[in-house]
Amino acid sequence: MYLGVDWGGTKIESIALAADGSALARHRCDTPRSDYDGCLRVIRGLVERVEQELGHRFPRVGVGLPGSLDPRTGIAKGASSTWMNGRRAEDDLRAALGRDVRTSNDADCFAVSEAVDGAGAGYRVVFAVILGTGAGAGIAVDGQAHHGPNNGAGEWGHNPLPLPDVSEIPGTACYCGKHGCLETWVSGRAFARDYARHASVDLAEPVDLRPAQIVERMRAGDRLARLVWQRYVDRVGRGLSLVLNVLDPDVFVMGGGMSNVVELYADLPPVLARYAFSPVLHTPVLAAAHGDSSGVRGAAWLWKP
Ligand SMILES: [Zn+2]
Repeated sequence: MYLGVDWGGTKIESIALAADGSALARHRCDTPRSDYDGCLRVIRGLVERVEQELGHRFPRVGVGLPGSLDPRTGIAKGASSTWMNGRRAEDDLRAALGRDVRTSNDADCFAVSEAVDGAGAGYRVVFAVILGTGAGAGIAVDGQAHHGPNNGAGEWGHNPLPLPDVSEIPGTACYCGKHGCLETWVSGRAFARDYARHASVDLAEPVDLRPAQIVERMRAGDRLARLVWQRYVDRVGRGLSLVLNVLDPDVFVMGGGMSNVVELYADLPPVLARYAFSPVLHTPVLAAAHGDSSGVRGAAWLWKP
């Protein structure tokens, strides 16, 4: 059995997985925002609830973090939940839980989950993309999260948008301190913002729609929604063409809210083929199999041999 915790910016969740991937117990709580020590207490409580339910003590726990640790110092960096930055998250978890802890970035956990028994199962190098409120990516190789000396692998969302046109320069400010990061172009929020910016020009009232509502409009024949979608897919394709040219993964697995738009799987591959250097494109682009559960499932799999 494996025990995992997904320490997210809004929710914290624990899960126990059997070796075959079936979920044995599962609990979740709201994240006490900006309260680091409160988060550690919630995590301990969630671990204990799973253990009480199963009558089993887990000697090891895997935890997905909303950021990465400096591999030398163990200090959290680049977390979108910025209150985590500067903390020794893995050491603190070890102390709070009184057992061995392995941590990974939440996007890496997503990649591991999909690589082990999700859409990426059977593929050696999995590039997993999250197109959600924000945007990020994780890399799994042979079912294990790939980390480099800076713990910077998969920070795809903080590359600049490739081949920007004049309207895309310099781009909006990102929380990381740079401008025009992919995250600011390919998140669900960016898609909605792009639509609102253009729709509001013609209308007296500002338009504020959720991504799913814009997609519904597109399916109903709204030309602006169609154009904004096409431009969105073009940006995702430009961003991923860079990955193809550098890593050439065996599969792209797509997660996050925008991955639920089924049109993505027909529309994205031709764009990728257009921007990548390789004249052939054999790489499958697949929807994640475990949806929102991938973060916590991947955290549990961090201890899988
Ligand atoms: Zn950034």
